[in-house]
Amino acid sequence: MERSHSRFVYRCHLKIPGVDNDCLFCRIVAGEIPATVVHETDTTLAFRDIDPKAPVHVLVIPKGHHPDVASLARADPSAAADVLAAAAEVAEAEGLVKNGYRLLFNTGEYAGQVVFHVHGHVLGGEPLGPMLAPR
Ligand code: AMP
Ligand code: ZN
Repeated sequence: MERSHSRFVYRCHLKIPGVDNDCLFCRIVAGEIPATVVHETDTTLAFRDIDPKAPVHVLVIPKGHHPDVASLARADPSAAADVLAAAAEVAEAEGLVKNGYRLLFNTGEYAGQVVFHVHGHVLGGEPLGPMLAPR
């Protein structure tokens, strides 16, 4: 059986609906790549950013693959709402609500999006400064 040949062959032949085997965050959802998970629901996963830009930096994603927040909102508004609710719960659990935090969805090239599985950045734990560098 293909499965016994190698992990690679197994992965290529196992098609899970909504999972893109070439996508880093789909592979985190599938448990193929480790992550420090801080929150999980049936439809969402939240884990610490590997290269944090603030004392608290958590990424919140839908388990289904959608490249960006606009695609998610169009294709699955209920999952989009779940991501926002999960981000709010992460902020609460991380103690960010009293002083405030930032929820950021980089979308496309000009915003510097590098992972094309939609993710909200929950950032906080200190004053975050202006939203963008002064022009
Ligand atoms: P963006 O520029 O909005 O696409 O952000 C992608 C984020 O994913 C960056 O902040 C990265 O540090 C983060 N990242 C990349 N690889 C991993 C990983 N394996 N685990 C956690 N965070 C990651
Ligand atoms: Zn994906």
